[in-house]
Formats: sequence, structure tokens, C-alpha cells
Amino acid sequence: MKTYIANRRDVLKKATQIAGLAAVASVAMKETAKADGGSMSPASVGYVDHPSGTHQCSNCSLYIPGTPATANGLCKAVAGPISPTAWCQIWAPAS
Ligand code: SF4
Repeated sequence: MKTYIANRRDVLKKATQIAGLAAVASVAMKETAKADGGSMSPASVGYVDHPSGTHQCSNCSLYIPGTPATANGLCKAVAGPISPTAWCQIWAPAS
């Protein structure tokens, strides 16, 4: 019985450690995504700080939202802070 309890504790301890590592990995992946803003200059893609009709960064497939969602985010293609209500010529619909 003691062996069973010891094994169960070990399993729970390992599960807790794995959950902790998964949480750390998740945060690290989000930070990596944030650090991976694009390298194209805003001017080269006609970036403007307003939408084009219903098209804007927040509904573009290349947009990486900020926190909160109304804050500036990043773009996978374009460098610099990106407004969720901006737009550029390479806008692509989010699926
Ligand atoms: S509209 Fe342009 S700047 Fe905005 S997220 Fe899409 S590609 Fe990036």
C-alpha cells in the first residue's frame, strides 16, 4: 500500500511539474510570436492609420493582437507597432 501511495504522489508531482512546464512553454511561445514582427517597412506596403472600408489589421490574417485587443499589436509582415484599426495594401482576410 505504501508503494502505491508513494507512486501516486510521484505521479501527481510529475503531472504538476509537466503542467508547469507547459505553462512556461506557452508563455515563451507567445513572447516569441510577439518578437517576430515583420521586417517590411510600413511605407513600403502603404500602411495607413485607418481602415479601408471593413478591412483593417484586426481582421487581417497577418495581425498579432496586442493586449488588450484595442492596444497596438504586431504584424507578421510589417515592422513596428501596428494599430488594430490600421490597414495596408497586403491586407489578407483572417479565416
Ligand atoms: S493590414 Fe497590413 S499591417 Fe495590418 S496586419 Fe495586415 S499585413 Fe499587417
